[in-house]
Amino acid sequence: MRILVTGGAGFVGAHLVDRLLRQGHHVLCLDNFYTGSPENLRTWWDHPDLECITHDITEPFVADVDQIYHLACPASPVHYQADPIKTIKTGFMGTLNMLDLAQKLGIKVLISSTSEVYGDPEVHPQPEAYWGHVNPIGIRACYDESKRLGETIAFEYYRQYGTAIRVARIFNTYGPLMAINDGRVVSNFIVQALKGEALTIYGKGTQTRSFCYVDDLVSGLILLMAGDQPGPINLGNPGEFTIQELAELVLELTASTAGIDYQPLPKDDPRQRCPDITQAQEVLGWQPKILLKEGLTRTIPDFQRRLG
Ligand code: NAD
Ligand code: UDP
Repeated sequence: MRILVTGGAGFVGAHLVDRLLRQGHHVLCLDNFYTGSPENLRTWWDHPDLECITHDITEPFVADVDQIYHLACPASPVHYQADPIKTIKTGFMGTLNMLDLAQKLGIKVLISSTSEVYGDPEVHPQPEAYWGHVNPIGIRACYDESKRLGETIAFEYYRQYGTAIRVARIFNTYGPLMAINDGRVVSNFIVQALKGEALTIYGKGTQTRSFCYVDDLVSGLILLMAGDQPGPINLGNPGEFTIQELAELVLELTASTAGIDYQPLPKDDPRQRCPDITQAQEVLGWQPKILLKEGLTRTIPDFQRRLG
């Protein structure tokens, strides 16, 4: 198949492109390289089945393809808060453009939504039926609300035009190829530990997250696309850790003695986050296989290599 992957040069996108190429597909990678890099696709640079196109998805795009994985959007708070209006345009107009293309071509389109649609959740763990608890005017809203709007547009295309949407609610994912300056917690901690710097915990470190290894996520995305359900479906690892526990694990695995530097907690930072993956298990037959310790052990050498 000819498969369009928006955001294909980003962290998750590059792993997905890699898997699709290995499966023998022809991939069009669409990216404006805001947080992504061609470096992430280096292994495939000379391969005839990969086409890389520099394009901003807030502008319409037309190509003859059989499927679309729509991943383009900065995912780290540091990057999506740097230009909030642009983030909103990407979440709204970018998603609209991709749904429009899928509708015209009559093909499946997978929308990468997020656990952020649940905001600072009052239901724990979070099932898909939970509507969420988002501050619509807070500093995370440019991302959270545009992702929520992305889901709304997707479901209106589904109801109004019968577009074959697949909506994935992705929970915190980590692994090799996360940008050194990504700013999310796993990459920050690994980079700091490898540089012998203290790990920056925001707040007291009692907030929780559930970390999914990227290979598991990619398997979930491909199963969701292959199935016949629009979703939304939670894709994440239900293993829940405090940020303090994560810091201690990274210190242990890197044999770092640099310790921890406690800094102020950013506003609206969700206190807890854990996916209910019953639907993914029942509908897709999917569940993550890689435990956090194993995933970090696979990730750290990649950062070591890139940091030289
Ligand atoms: P990332 O920042 O590494 O990758 C995003 C990619 O999109 C980059 O290559 C970037 O250059 C590109 N991009 C951004 N804006 C664009 C635009 N306007 N036009 C074209 N390209 C653009 O992020 P990621 O972690 O790979 O996330 C991929 C997708 O998955 C995002 O939609 C994100 O919201 C979603 N997601 C990720 C996580 C996670 O933990 N990684 C969690 C929830 C949801
Ligand atoms: N965090 C932290 N130190 C860092 C980066 C993040 O303590 O250097 C915290 C952050 O405040 C949040 C959690 O780790 O509570 C996860 O942050 P991340 O940006 O990775 O993802 P998100 O908040 O979007 O889930």
